Amino acid sequence: MISFSQVYKRYPNGYEALKNISFSLEAGEMALITGHSGAGKTTLLRLIAAIERPTSGSIIVNGQNVSTLKGGAIPFLRRNLGLVFQDQKILFDRNVFQNVLLPLQISGFGSTAATRRVRAALDKVGLLNREKAWPITLSGGEQQRLCIARAIVNRPSILIADEPTSNLDADYARDIMDMFVSFNQVGVAILIATHDVELLGSMQQRILTLNHGELAA
Ligand code: ADP
Repeated sequence: MISFSQVYKRYPNGYEALKNISFSLEAGEMALITGHSGAGKTTLLRLIAAIERPTSGSIIVNGQNVSTLKGGAIPFLRRNLGLVFQDQKILFDRNVFQNVLLPLQISGFGSTAATRRVRAALDKVGLLNREKAWPITLSGGEQQRLCIARAIVNRPSILIADEPTSNLDADYARDIMDMFVSFNQVGVAILIATHDVELLGSMQQRILTLNHGELAA
């Protein structure tokens, strides 16, 4: 489903953020990526979504070679990826429902099917009763749930999240992780970057550890 083979990423300033990364995530598998700040976690996730390109090595996602993917093919790659990234901002001039609807409008969904999908996504994250709420009135945990609803509304086969529990109290963080586990239980492959050691200790999933750009054995 996701396969990295001898991947290196050097930024234009010469900094080598990832070195010789090889691993695979099978269909329906869930794994957590951990490591110190600056270890390369975000870079690795950004490579999967083709936000960054590798300097060398191959990255296969859903059968597509992301390392050589043409720009025009990137929207199709992303349609099967649910992304929960820190820089994907909530739109504060739209309500909860409209925020989740946006990716479907971009995909060209008809309004009846889209409404059904938005409500299903909001239901999965426990926000169905807040669909008319303005994002500013949501708690931090609820805003994160909104981001997750937006990531799953296209029913992706892979969900990728970068520090989805940062800025949340331990109980809310636990709820968010439990939600990812429940998505995984219905077959979605999941990769989550987190440096929350306490949370990691309580999880049963496979853990990949990055250390200065290298994957620990
Ligand atoms: P993490 O998510 O584990 O904190 P990152 O992937 O964000 O790590 O960053 C890994 C390293 O790459 C850091 O040293 C960071 O400063 C560097 N880095 C990240 N993005 C860029 C960039 N666009 N240009 C140069 N260096 C970068």
